[in-house]
Amino acid sequence: MADIIQLLPDHVANQIAAGEVVQRPASVVKELLENAIDAGATTIKLIIKDAGKTLVQVIDNGKGMSVTDARLSFERHATSKIRTADDLFLLNTKGFRGEALASIAAIAHVELKTKQEHEDVGTCIEIEGSTVNSQEVVVTPKGTSISVKNLFYNIPARRNFLKSNTVETRHIVDEFHRVALAHPNIGFVMFHNGSETFNLPDSNYRQRIVNIFGTKTNEKLVPVDEDTEVLKISGFVGKPEFAKKTRGEQFFFVNDRFIKSAYLNHAIGSAFEGLLKDGAHASYFLNLTVNPQTIDINIHPTKTEIKFDDEHTLYAILRSAVKHSLGQFNIAPVLDFDRDANLDTPYSYQQKGEPSVEIDRSFNPFREEKQFSNSGTSSSSSYKKTPSANWESLYVGLESKGTQTQQDFSEVEFESATKNESIFDNDNQVEKKQSTYQFHNKYIVSTIKSGMLLIDQHRAHQRVLYEDFLKNMTIKEAMSQQLLFPLQLHFSPQEINIINQLKTDLEHTGFIFQTIKEELVEISGVPVSVPESEVSIILEQLINDVENEVPDSNFSPTDLLAKSLAKSLAIKTGQSLTIMEQEHLVNSLFACKEPNVSPTNRTTFVTMTVDELDKKFV
Ligand code: ADP
Ligand code: MG
Repeated sequence: MADIIQLLPDHVANQIAAGEVVQRPASVVKELLENAIDAGATTIKLIIKDAGKTLVQVIDNGKGMSVTDARLSFERHATSKIRTADDLFLLNTKGFRGEALASIAAIAHVELKTKQEHEDVGTCIEIEGSTVNSQEVVVTPKGTSISVKNLFYNIPARRNFLKSNTVETRHIVDEFHRVALAHPNIGFVMFHNGSETFNLPDSNYRQRIVNIFGTKTNEKLVPVDEDTEVLKISGFVGKPEFAKKTRGEQFFFVNDRFIKSAYLNHAIGSAFEGLLKDGAHASYFLNLTVNPQTIDINIHPTKTEIKFDDEHTLYAILRSAVKHSLGQFNIAPVLDFDRDANLDTPYSYQQKGEPSVEIDRSFNPFREEKQFSNSGTSSSSSYKKTPSANWESLYVGLESKGTQTQQDFSEVEFESATKNESIFDNDNQVEKKQSTYQFHNKYIVSTIKSGMLLIDQHRAHQRVLYEDFLKNMTIKEAMSQQLLFPLQLHFSPQEINIINQLKTDLEHTGFIFQTIKEELVEISGVPVSVPESEVSIILEQLINDVENEVPDSNFSPTDLLAKSLAKSLAIKTGQSLTIMEQEHLVNSLFACKEPNVSPTNRTTFVTMTVDELDKKFV
């Protein structure tokens, strides 16, 4: 039989590699920005069109490339950054794989213009699907400009897989933020569809954060500085009172590279223990500097995780440094500040495997005490949630049973019709027959003709509110309550942008906007159903939902808004309801068009027939 194995042609191999490196326009943004930084640029301009689907261009004033290098930069495994495998452990550049340009050129129309400082003229290369179409001499300023057009033009499946422009832009802005935060000493400008969306002059770290997230951020920042043999920390944490419900502004940089680490995130959470409201997340902007030989970043081109040699030590130092700052700046009472000598030498953690969650229930941030000095090892009382009685186990059976036999709404018939008519016509019926019952502040039980009905109060209420909001938005006549004093809320420029997009729909729900300016929104009226104190949380949640919108073609801002508001305003699990409220909820639910499911398609109620119950009693 003939031989069948062949080497893949280069352009095919490049396309396959591109699948790894380039997932979306934001990946191109990241790679190009990082190349510009590696080239020593001091100003970098990012130009985007149509969320990067039409164009991603990065212009830098870095060191540029020679004629030969310009051509070679598009070859796979072509890099100027490492020569031997050992160099991997001494890395001080972002790139080192030499894959990015080759991958990008395999799946887009790319134009490169580059010139080195001492040259009079530069080089321009046009390359399309790994084929070089032209290479010419051009007049161009010092530095490099790379434009990447029509990403995935030759892989329609990938192109179709791209999300809505809102989502892709969000990813791009995220990458831009990460790179800009890691390099405050470099000036960045970003243009989207012709308008300038960010202009970040070179500055110090605090100014950079403020330039990105809005002037209001300034007063929220608490500096963190710690210098130990194994780890240097600098940056800021957000004051606890500004903590948000949504995890937005959380940034770790290790040796100027953005990383994600659930473990280190936990260290911050534990430093804030007792200072945050339930469900709130601390914000942080922290730069960690470690010896490059103690980390391994060579995991995956697009992954943001890295491996540390001694995570436990980093955890302890980080936690302690953040606590120290919160204490020093009078945010938390000073707890441990004889500055433990242990800080400078690694702790001898013996812990293996996953970190265990240790919560010191006896820790009271408002009590002066000397505590925690030798930290983590003394997990005085590890907290474990004890299930309340065996109610839950009962419920598990119930639910699974219930969903299996979930009936059509049409079959749900209320029992109230069969209420025994008393022969004594009792006008002032003191003991009205109770038709609903709430248990565990979570479910409402009601009887129906065929048996019983169990309603999830939170989901049911979401359904009711959702249909209500939708209706209001379509007929455009919601009721507003005027506020005595307009509410002033601060947002970042990007958040303002989203509010502007949703303004009309928000107005149809009853919001009245007095002004929407650069970083400030003034609200003079809110929907009747919205308590004034909740407005900022609701808008924050809404912005977050828009940013994380599960995008598809049938995305509708109206629908998203209704869902988001319903989610924010619905009665929560854990809230106790009067009998009247319970009844009202049940009635409103069954007056809905689609009572069976919540706006996010979760079951709102289950039924159990008498037959089913009977079977349980055999
Ligand atoms: P890597 O960054 O991993 O080395 P890339 O494919 O991103 O791989 O880039 C290949 C090479 O092209 C780089 O090593 C660098 O020498 C050169 N290069 C890329 N972008 C620039 C730029 N903006 N300025 C100067 N040189 C660049
Ligand atoms: Mg690179």
